Amino acid sequence: GRKLLMIPGPIEFEPEVLHAMGRATSSHVAPDFIESFGTCIELMREVWRSPKGQPFIVAGTGTLAMDMAAANLIEKDDRVLVISTGYFGKRYKDIIDRYGAKTTILEANVGEVVDLDAIEIELKNNAYKALTLTHVDTSTGVRVDPEPIAKLAQKYNCLSILDGVCSVAGEEIKQDDWGIDVVLTGSQKAIGVPPGLALLVASEKAIQVWENRKTSVGSYYSDWNNWLPIIKAYEERRPSYFGTPPVNLIVALETSLKIIQKEGMETRVKRHRELARAFRAGLAALKFDFLPKSNEISANTLTAAYYPEGVDGSALLAKLSKDGIILAGGLLPELKTSYFRIGHMGSVSSNDLIAVLSSLERALIELGHPVKAGEGLQAFQHELLTKN
Ligand code: PMP
Repeated sequence: GRKLLMIPGPIEFEPEVLHAMGRATSSHVAPDFIESFGTCIELMREVWRSPKGQPFIVAGTGTLAMDMAAANLIEKDDRVLVISTGYFGKRYKDIIDRYGAKTTILEANVGEVVDLDAIEIELKNNAYKALTLTHVDTSTGVRVDPEPIAKLAQKYNCLSILDGVCSVAGEEIKQDDWGIDVVLTGSQKAIGVPPGLALLVASEKAIQVWENRKTSVGSYYSDWNNWLPIIKAYEERRPSYFGTPPVNLIVALETSLKIIQKEGMETRVKRHRELARAFRAGLAALKFDFLPKSNEISANTLTAAYYPEGVDGSALLAKLSKDGIILAGGLLPELKTSYFRIGHMGSVSSNDLIAVLSSLERALIELGHPVKAGEGLQAFQHELLTKN
């Protein structure tokens, strides 16, 4: 039967995007395709709010985008500060360590963010070349406010690299205004395209730092020397080649970016925020506790909630799956079996979340959890009706 994919990526894609994937694959130097690629570059600047930034579109996953930023900007013995709010923060440390950097990690407790003062003390006491932060850590559902951290990085002449895999096109991002040097993502999340594209936008300063490297880039595939001329050519609507672009994915990206542009980023972020708040209200009414310690630092793209006491988590997810609703288990190794995650980004609508809540209510009741059918839905409806 029909399934509703409500994990934090891949998500449910718009039908037009899926149709674009299924079109006959054209040559990567055909005029139509060059036009699509060029349009993607232009529209990325709008979504990222980075009119001055340099977009890159490469076949790969979000992890490749993380790796590409590190490969091009980090050299042996550089100091790098990793600000971690979960699993993907730690991954960034592993990536940066591969390039021989001297890495310091500041780790938040589960469900919390790293204190701004602690970040400033580090930046003041050591000459960091770059810092990384995860906008929304998909393992915890915690959202970090990137702006004050980016401003601190600027104050101490340090590059800022934002892992926006679970935020770009769902959460507010103003790359140029906030002064973030790299904002990166993968296609399968709020950008709304099947998995397979690594996307990033680099600031003018990031490009300068890369141009002034003392050593050559250690990864052949990730080296901006190979990709920059290609991206520039496509933007100028000239044919070009380094590695064969994933033609269908890029046509799908163009389709999705146009849908995003039509909705408008402000409206889109507002939709994510309102649905996320209402959904949390619904879950709270069903007595769920959340990993993020407050609403203020809760993501709008996914929710991470503990299973209620006495409820068998795998039985709960299996019941939803029988209803056709696919949710995700926990990702933090130490808490894997005590929480689960629901993605609500991209094409998500109130109807999708009503389906999740109603199915959850029935499953909980069947598993003996003391809630009444309709309690979660009522709170959800109330929150949507009184949104501010
Ligand atoms: N960072 C974050 C915040 C993510 O959520 C993910 C994917 N879940 C990644 C990085 C890695 O992306 P990918 O799985 O596409 O390599």
